[in-house]
Amino acid sequence: MAKAEFMGEKLKLYNTLTRTTDVFEPLSKGEVKIYCCGPTVYNYQHIGNLRTYIFEDILVRTLRFAGYSVRHVMNITDVGHLVSDADEGEDKMALAAKRERKSSAEIAAYYTEIFFNHCALLNIQRPEIVCKAADHIQEMIELIKRLEAKGIAYESGGNVYLDITKVDDYGKLARLPLDQLQAGARIEVDSKKRNTLDFALWFTKSKFENQELQWDSPWGRGYPGWHIECSAMSMKYLGESFDIHCGGIDHIPVHHTNEIAQSEGATGKPFSRFWLHGGFLLDNNDKMSKSKGGFLTLDKLLERKIDPIAYRLFCFTSKYSQELSFSWESLEASINTLKKIKSTILSIKAVSGSSLQGSDSDRGNLVHSDPNNPQSQVRQAQSNQYSQLFNAALFDDLNMPRAIAVLHQLLSDSSLASADKLCLLYKFDQVLGLGIETWEEGTVEIPAAVLTLLEGRQAARKAKDFKLADELRDKILAQGFVIEDSATGPKLKRQS
Ligand code: AMP
Ligand code: ZN
Repeated sequence: MAKAEFMGEKLKLYNTLTRTTDVFEPLSKGEVKIYCCGPTVYNYQHIGNLRTYIFEDILVRTLRFAGYSVRHVMNITDVGHLVSDADEGEDKMALAAKRERKSSAEIAAYYTEIFFNHCALLNIQRPEIVCKAADHIQEMIELIKRLEAKGIAYESGGNVYLDITKVDDYGKLARLPLDQLQAGARIEVDSKKRNTLDFALWFTKSKFENQELQWDSPWGRGYPGWHIECSAMSMKYLGESFDIHCGGIDHIPVHHTNEIAQSEGATGKPFSRFWLHGGFLLDNNDKMSKSKGGFLTLDKLLERKIDPIAYRLFCFTSKYSQELSFSWESLEASINTLKKIKSTILSIKAVSGSSLQGSDSDRGNLVHSDPNNPQSQVRQAQSNQYSQLFNAALFDDLNMPRAIAVLHQLLSDSSLASADKLCLLYKFDQVLGLGIETWEEGTVEIPAAVLTLLEGRQAARKAKDFKLADELRDKILAQGFVIEDSATGPKLKRQS
């Protein structure tokens, strides 16, 4: 059953569209439909990008925790994203293909695989639907045709553009006057456009004649603009109006503004009701970004033998919507916090013995309340109090620093029985995603070299090169690790 209200708390989320923290209710009772802008797979995702996916993971987990079923869609941008978010520069994929002397498809497959490996190491749950832009060209063409039929899109000089004066409230998400939106978009003068802020839906004529990725269309052979993919794919999988749309804060003035213009222009209906945006991870007081170079990937953390979960915990030190400054010293603090949390939980597990090996449905609900036993009643009340505190933190616009404070309070509360503590910890971890259930005494950290071999084996299996895959498995074995393949992906265990 859906619980918009959970233990007296209503889920409240900050909505960029209304600039207020609003009580969240989905359009369809019990089911939340959510779309998150995914990676442009021309390079590694840096730990700043990954911060945004951790926030989205917390949002999805919180919605499930609150009792909703969630339909979570994420796109993979493998065509159309030009070097600037506006219509400027070369396609990022084409540029990477040249840089690495590979085809765009090879570049996309390689970086997509690494992205999901990194997500798995961070315990970010994979969305139900992951959709690639290059697989949805027809849907984009149909949407552009709809916009053209309504007089919102126009062809000029071989390209198709959206006329921003033909849609209501263009820029309502960013709430900026048009001249400031224009400055934010850093738009190149394009004499083919009627208005400076008009943006391309389809290119047949660009500075880059030899663009590798091209498709036939009613306007000629060419390729889509970047924004149209998210409108086409979100509406295909979630319907014309849905509940939540997410991304990083940089998407507000251009990408999300243009998604709204295209979608609402075509359907005449409200597009997403809630818009949630993640704040930047800063590096030396500036946004961490791929274009600047020198960015940090999860591999760099693994090379230093840092547990990725310590980075996940580091992200919980500030609210998702605020900026977070990265430094090795502050990450070190989270590494130490994780070690302390782990050792406390391992000692709680040791005391509780194997009494909590119940089924999933039991976990978090193992405090047996016996109405005739006053002691049991007290235990139940104590547990409820902690559940309430934790829910209140989550439902307060995903306040993770507060949720972690509740975790620490629980861990240090000596008045609670260990078994009750463990029940609560398993329950909280459905959202925290630290992997508490998998923690065992003597758990070993996996060396970066072994993880690299594992990535190679996954790529070899995907390419159906089973000989190489087996060789890599043997190399992993030689390092003392056994691979167990499961439905959720491969798992590494120390050879016993
Ligand atoms: P991209 O692959 O560039 O499209 O970015 C993927 C996601 O990461 C988008 O939601 C961006 O808004 C977000 N993002 C980009 N830079 C940062 C950063 N420094 N901190 C947090 N999120 C970011
Ligand atoms: Zn998008």
